[in-house]
Amino acid sequence: MPELPEAETIRCQLAAAIIGTSVESVRLHHPRTWRFHSSRQELRRLVERRTILAVGRRGKAPYLLLDGSEPSTLVFRLGMTGLLRVVDDCEQAEARPAAVLALSGRKDLRFFDTRTFGALIARRGHDVECMPEFVHYGPEPLSDAFTPEHLREALSRRRAKLQDVLMNQRVVAGIGKIYADEICFRAGLRPGRRACGLTGPMRKRLWRAIREVLAEGIECRGSSARDGSYRDVYGMPGRFRDRMHVYQRTGQACRICGATVRRTRIPGGRGLHWCPSCQK
Ligand SMILES: [Zn+2]
Repeated sequence: MPELPEAETIRCQLAAAIIGTSVESVRLHHPRTWRFHSSRQELRRLVERRTILAVGRRGKAPYLLLDGSEPSTLVFRLGMTGLLRVVDDCEQAEARPAAVLALSGRKDLRFFDTRTFGALIARRGHDVECMPEFVHYGPEPLSDAFTPEHLREALSRRRAKLQDVLMNQRVVAGIGKIYADEICFRAGLRPGRRACGLTGPMRKRLWRAIREVLAEGIECRGSSARDGSYRDVYGMPGRFRDRMHVYQRTGQACRICGATVRRTRIPGGRGLHWCPSCQK
């Protein structure tokens, strides 16, 4: 599932490839892709015949700022398996895209989504922070708004597991299960701990780990986990998997101490991956 580093990789590649082009038409092939709109036409009206002014990202979602008769924003909710590709419009698609934006210059921006949890959401205006998708989001973890004080305050009020709190988009935006496990490893903290029970030095380590691990994820252009579903805009996998210490490494030796990496099952099918010796 794409998280902040994957979405940031996509944002950066889209910015280089499509800023200044215009969206000539939108083809919507899967009804779930436009499920947040009352009709396909509503979505198309807010996107077609507009110029792409900028490409942004909030949490795990890249978005386009569009200009035309009235400013609008197109948000890509990537869900579990959403992928974006920029290709020449004559290129054969390897699978059926859920949606295609035909761009000027004979380019296509194709949206693939095999599990259909993703969506395209178009809104009027450019005020992303006020959009219903993002209005409750916590700060961006790599921004100055994400301070140690913010994290202390958020953790101290929550009795939930540390992994759950890290994945709560209201606390901090952009973290999912891959990076939550890796952040807990980096901080030396068990992901099943209660968030409110952390000491001051633990919280400080956690704050630093959040920023370091996500920055490394971006540097590696994201992570393509075992299911291999994530690919960047040009179809390339991310390299962060080679640096993972615990996520999907159950039963393997910890790269630091040699102990066996464990997975604790939790209801809902998710698991916590952790090293019993490095994490307390
Ligand atoms: Zn270890």
